[in-house]
Amino acid sequence: MQQEGINSLQEKNLEKTKTDLVIIGAGPAGLGASIYSARAAIDFKIFERVMAGGQITTTESIENYPGFKPDISGFDLMQNIIEHCTKLGIKPEEYKQVETLKLTGGQGAGGYKFLTGGENFETESKAVIIATGASPTRLFVEGESEYIGKGVSFCATCDGALYYDKKVIVAGGGDSAIQEALFLTKFAKVVYVVHRRSELRAVKTLQNRAFENKKIEFIWDTVIEKFLGGDRLKAVVLKNVKSGKKADMEIDGVFEYVGIKANSQLAEGIAELDENGFIITEPDMATSQPGLFAAGDVRDTKLRQVITAVADGAIAATYADKYLNGL
Ligand code: NAP
Repeated sequence: MQQEGINSLQEKNLEKTKTDLVIIGAGPAGLGASIYSARAAIDFKIFERVMAGGQITTTESIENYPGFKPDISGFDLMQNIIEHCTKLGIKPEEYKQVETLKLTGGQGAGGYKFLTGGENFETESKAVIIATGASPTRLFVEGESEYIGKGVSFCATCDGALYYDKKVIVAGGGDSAIQEALFLTKFAKVVYVVHRRSELRAVKTLQNRAFENKKIEFIWDTVIEKFLGGDRLKAVVLKNVKSGKKADMEIDGVFEYVGIKANSQLAEGIAELDENGFIITEPDMATSQPGLFAAGDVRDTKLRQVITAVADGAIAATYADKYLNGL
C-alpha cells in the first residue's frame, strides 16, 4: 500500500516545498502583501496563475493612485510595482495556478497545503493570503455566448481599436462601463451606454466626462435582451424595463461591463463567504479560518480600487506576520 503511494508520487513527479506564508495572486493586493512580507522577513512564496500585474493591467489610465501622473496606464503602474518588488528580491512564481487549497490540521487548526502548476508542485504553509481578485461577469442572455469574440467583448483595451468609426454599445453604468465608454470614443463613431436604470453608478467625475462627451449617447432604463447576427454580431434586441417595449438596434460591437464576481473558489468550504461569493474578512483581513487571510477585490470590501487592494495586502501581510509569530 505504502509502495503504491510512493509509486504514484514518483509517477506524478511531485515536487514538495514548505514555507511559512503563501500569497495567492500577484495583482495589486498580492504584490502589496509581498512587499510587506519581504520587509517583515517572512519566509514566503507568491503564486500567480498568469503574469504578475492583475486585471488592472488592461485599464487605459489610472487617475486616482497617488504619487503618479494622472494619465499613467494600469500596465505602467503595475510595472512600477513589479520593479519595486524585484528590488526587494520578490519574484512571483508566474503561470503557477493554485489548483487546490487544503487544510492540513483540520477546521480551525491552521496549516495549509496546495497543489500548483498542473498539480506537479505541492507546497505546505502555515498561513495564506488569498489575493485572487475578481473577474468580469456577463449578461447571460440569448445569443451572447455565440458572439463572444465576434462582436461581444469584455475588454475595450484589447478590442477597442477594431471598432474604428463603428457603432458600439457599452452595457452597464458602473465605473468600468463609463471609463471604458470614454476610452472607446477614441475609436468608435458613437458609443451607446445602455443602462438598466436612469442614473449611473459610476463616480461623479467619470459621469461628468461622459455627459460632456459628444460621442457618447445614453439609453436609459434599458437592457439587452438578445444578441442577433450571422457569422458575427449585427444587432441586439433592447428592452425598456419600465415600458416593456422592445426594439432591434443594429450595432457593430457590444462591450459588457456589468459587474464582477469574486475569484474565491479556493476558499469555498474553508472560509465564510458572503451571499455574493466574496470572502468575509475582519479589519485585519483575517477570514473565519485561522491563518487564512484575504486581500483586495476577492474580499467583502466597500471599495474596489488599486489603492485599497494594495492597502489590504499591506494589512494582511502585517497580521499574517503577527499570526506566524504567535504560533
Ligand atoms: P459595478 O460597480 O458592480 O457596476 C456594474 C454595473 O452593471 C452597474 O451599473 C449595474 O447596474 C450594471 N448591471 C449589473 N448587472 C446587470 C445586468 N444583469 N444587466 C444590466 N446591467 C447590469 O461593476 P464595475 O463597474 O465593473 O466595477 C467593479 C468594482 O471596481 C467597483 O467597486 C468599482 O468602483 C471598481 N472600479 C474602479 C475603477 C476606478 O477607480 N477607476 C474602475 C473600474 C472599476 P446598477 O447600477 O443598476 O446595479
